[in-house]
Amino acid sequence: MSDNCIFCKIASGELPAKKVYEDDDCVAFHDINPAAPVHLLLIPKKHVCSLADIKDEDAPWLGRMVVLAQKLAFENGCTPGHDGGFRLVANTGREGGQEVDHLHFHILGGPRPWQKRAAPAA
Ligand code: AMP
Ligand code: ZN
Repeated sequence: MSDNCIFCKIASGELPAKKVYEDDDCVAFHDINPAAPVHLLLIPKKHVCSLADIKDEDAPWLGRMVVLAQKLAFENGCTPGHDGGFRLVANTGREGGQEVDHLHFHILGGPRPWQKRAAPAA
């Protein structure tokens, strides 16, 4: 837990969020300002600033989060199959567009067009 980190506070329950999933390692909740019909944030409970801070020993829980991401995407409204899908985004650092300094994956999906904000053109 890092002081004054909003995502640590959401993970601990100190701040409210529309949670869709929680286990020992991570929490998923709806983004407060959705950029797509489905826009979830998946965060580790452990305070890690960004993907730039990941160490070899973080691989197990990080791998589990990536496996979990596709499950959460389809359980929460993303369209399955080749014509559906979703986008998994981890903005990293200021030049990477990161605003909240607690590692998070955006899970974005649903029928297009989406807003451009959190899903910049590839
Ligand atoms: P990023 O620019 O990758 O750091 O994205 C931060 C995301 O967190 C943005 O999409 C915000 O809309 C979202 N966000 C900020 N505060 C909250 C909150 N209290 N609950 C849910 N989502 C939030
Ligand atoms: Zn944090």
